[in-house]
Amino acid sequence: MLGKEELKALNDYFEEKEPLEVLKWGVEKFYPKIVLACSLQAEDIVILDMLSRVVEKPKVFIIDTGRLHQESYDLIEEITKKYNADVRLYFPDYKDVEDMVNKYGINLFYKSVEFRKMCCEIRKVRPLKRALEGMEAWITGLRREQNFTRGGIKKIELDEVNGGIIKLNPLADWTWEQVWDYIKKNNVPYNKLYDKGYKSIGCVPCTRPVKPWEHPRAGRWWWEQNSDKECGLHYRKEVK
Ligand code: SF4
Repeated sequence: MLGKEELKALNDYFEEKEPLEVLKWGVEKFYPKIVLACSLQAEDIVILDMLSRVVEKPKVFIIDTGRLHQESYDLIEEITKKYNADVRLYFPDYKDVEDMVNKYGINLFYKSVEFRKMCCEIRKVRPLKRALEGMEAWITGLRREQNFTRGGIKKIELDEVNGGIIKLNPLADWTWEQVWDYIKKNNVPYNKLYDKGYKSIGCVPCTRPVKPWEHPRAGRWWWEQNSDKECGLHYRKEVK
């Protein structure tokens, strides 16, 4: 495990560096115990494309909540054909899902923030824990400009919520424009929901397209007022 001083020195060093440099460092230090979390967003596929340049067979996990869009499934097929990656799908425990929907309803997430978080916990967070078992590091496509809970993310973090493993956010300082420039220049596959006005990709019932003037994450859990608009995959404990 990295100490706080070492972590700070690494972040000072990598803050001005390109995402590829962060990934090279992560792969050298942790492969094969490093995995990319792919939630089928544009950023995730950009990272997969970069990772493919630094390691022969990147490890990737995708959580299939059971409520994904067809376009997301199509993208899974596309990336598994294009990249020589070890892509694993993780599903929620069927018993947890059965208990939840039989007790609270198939569309319980619209009833309250608590129910919505329960659904995210069962369909996303618990599978995440299994996907991270045995790993020493994971990689995400989080960017600081995505929303208020992500403004302070570092490129290299200690993930206290997930057993103190390392979390790499190589695109932390990238803008939306940089992500799409990379996609166009490198012919990277992307989720076709973006062509339909979506700016952030999640589950079908909890995601909708946004207007050009709206915040990119305004289409996530749009009916909730004053919630943190997070599913729990990226909760952070501040390391002081
Ligand atoms: Fe459930 Fe919606 Fe969360 Fe998906 S985003 S896990 S459907 S509450």
